[in-house]
Amino acid sequence: MRRKLVVANWKMHGSRAENAPLVEAILAAPSHAGVDCVLCPPFVYLQEVGRQLRDAAVKLGAQNVCAEAPGAQTGEIAASMLRDVGCEYVIVGHSERRHLYGEDDVLVARKVAAAQSRRLTPILCVGEQLAEREAGETEEVLARQLDAVLALSGAGAFEHAVVAYEPVWAIGTGRTASPAQAQQAHAFIRRRLASRDAKIASGLRILYGGSVKAGNARELFTQEDVDGGLIGGASLQAEEFLSILAAARG
Ligand code: PEP
Repeated sequence: MRRKLVVANWKMHGSRAENAPLVEAILAAPSHAGVDCVLCPPFVYLQEVGRQLRDAAVKLGAQNVCAEAPGAQTGEIAASMLRDVGCEYVIVGHSERRHLYGEDDVLVARKVAAAQSRRLTPILCVGEQLAEREAGETEEVLARQLDAVLALSGAGAFEHAVVAYEPVWAIGTGRTASPAQAQQAHAFIRRRLASRDAKIASGLRILYGGSVKAGNARELFTQEDVDGGLIGGASLQAEEFLSILAAARG
C-alpha cells in the first residue's frame, strides 16, 4: 500500500507576510496522519518556512536544483545547499523549467542524480504538451522523459524518488485530466518502470498535477495508480489546500 503524498508547489508566489499565516493554517489543521505533505516555497523563503516546519510532519522541498557541484555557477543553487537549509525533497523537471527555461531530458536526469547524491528525494515531473496528446504521442513523451533517468542512473534511481505526471495542458489552465486519463498515464509510467524493476515500480509514488482543486481531488486520488498530487495554484489558499489534503486522506 503506497501512502499518499501531497506536494505544494508555490511557484514564484508568496512573500514573508503571506507565507507565515499559510504555513500556520496548514500546521494547525487536524493531524496529517496517513498522508505525507511537502511544501515547496521559492528558494529565498526556504529557511523561514523551514523554521516554521521544524519538528512538524510536514516536510520542506525546493522547486529546482543545479545539476553541478558547488562552484562557479552564478545564480544557481546546489543540492548540498538545499540539504543544508533543511530540504528533504526537490521538484525536478517541472514543465515550466523544461519549456520556459529549456531544460532537456538529459539535464533533468542529471538534476535527479545531483539531488540523490545529497539524499534529497527528487520529484521528477513528466508530461506531454497538448499537441503531443492530440497527436497520440503521450506515451512516447513519457517514455522518453523516464528513459533519460533510467539511462543515466538505472531503475534504482526510482527507489527514492517520486514521479509527478503533469500534462502540460492542464497546468494552471483550469483544465484537468479526467481521472481515467490520469490513471492511464500513471499506469503506463508504472509499467515502463516495472519492465526494468517490478518491485521498485510497485512502490513508486506517482502524483498527478494539473489544476487539482478541492472539487476534483477525491476522484483523481481514488484512481489505482494515483498516489497523491502536485498542487500549484490551489496550494496558495489554505482552505483549498487543506481540503485537497483531506481528499488524499480518504
Ligand atoms: C504545478 O505547478 O505543478 C501545477 C500543477 O499547477 P496547478 O495546480 O496550478 O495547475
